[in-house]
Amino acid sequence: MIILTLKSGKEQSLQRFHPWVFSGAIARMSGTPEEGEVVEVQDALGCFMALGHYQIGTITVRVLSFDPVHIDQQFYTSRIREAYQLRRQIGLAESTQTNAFRLIHGEGDYLPGLVIDMYNGVAVVQMHSVGMWRDREFIYNALREVVGDNLKAIYNKSEDTLPFKAGIEMQNTYIYGQRPEDKTAMENGLKFYPDWEKGQKTGFFVDQRDNRALIERYSKGRSVLNMFCYTGGFSMYAMRGGAKLVHSVDSSERAIELTNNNVELNFPGDSRHQATAEDAFKFMQQTEGEFDLMILDPPAFAKHYNVLNNALKGYRRLNTKALEMIRPGGILFTFSCSQVVSKEVFRTMVFSSAAKAHRRVSILHQLSQPADHPVNIYHPEGEYLKGLVLQVW
Ligand code: SAH
Repeated sequence: MIILTLKSGKEQSLQRFHPWVFSGAIARMSGTPEEGEVVEVQDALGCFMALGHYQIGTITVRVLSFDPVHIDQQFYTSRIREAYQLRRQIGLAESTQTNAFRLIHGEGDYLPGLVIDMYNGVAVVQMHSVGMWRDREFIYNALREVVGDNLKAIYNKSEDTLPFKAGIEMQNTYIYGQRPEDKTAMENGLKFYPDWEKGQKTGFFVDQRDNRALIERYSKGRSVLNMFCYTGGFSMYAMRGGAKLVHSVDSSERAIELTNNNVELNFPGDSRHQATAEDAFKFMQQTEGEFDLMILDPPAFAKHYNVLNNALKGYRRLNTKALEMIRPGGILFTFSCSQVVSKEVFRTMVFSSAAKAHRRVSILHQLSQPADHPVNIYHPEGEYLKGLVLQVW
């Protein structure tokens, strides 16, 4: 196995079990590894530190283990089994009410570069690193063994997530089983069509499950605006919670189509729901004082630190507008899924928006991601979803 030796003084991050080795920390390599190959990392004195996938780029090694183990079928099966057992414990895997959940959340499940979402027995696999692509057969075999009879199909959706510089040619495709006839999945008893073949990410945002459930408690008798609705997840819960009316808005026509299909699936012919394909800012400029429960769940405005300031301006503008227009006594659910926007920065941004809107605002809940999106304690970057529930007077 090829050995990468760290520069003297660069071992601290691995000593603290952070799962990435940056290119600048490496003094030398004992050979030229192929992209995705498993390599050993040693400190400057030649002592073993970690094993991980090698990749050309800023993050040179993604750590799989801090112990000298074999990275083989058994390794993947045991990591995926641990992850599956956790999902069973928290009432997701094999539940009768929810069959849409995240089975593997990258670093949070000690498999950096790998995401697997389950939709009613269909495993949608997204590989973000060349190493996971190289080890794909181990992953597929592990899924078959661990999920067993509950596994209907495996769909590899990595066409757009693998680093394009690696030159891997692949098309999204079924690896095992086929497109099921029943393409619905369930979340807390509500039905959805997750569109893993053409939709965003793996087809559905499972990370908002717990936050959607909270909306249901606040919805009775309220007029709801679900901004950035995508598949209409929050709208469905608001309707079940007894909202007076629910307006879903997204700039994508396809998202509005998906939302309307999901409403039809759960509340056929229910006239409380309306949907509009429109830009968020344009829509909010045209509406005043109609809503007393609002959800803002925008896409990640900032994917890198160098655009953080511009992104914060965008978030501030959006939140200020929402805080200005919500009815007195209204409830605002506001989120950011940008990894580079920390909890503190997000809260400060909402604070300035509140002051600018000149409203009385109090925080009722501080929200995050659910337990099937675990945060590896040594990898705080994994904590990407943050939200606040505010009451506005
Ligand atoms: N709340 C959703 C997830 C939102 S993802 C859920 O629970 O599943 C973000 C959505 O914002 C995407 O569907 C995208 O189409 C939409 N979007 C991006 N820019 C927008 C804009 N300027 N105005 C309105 N919608 C936008």
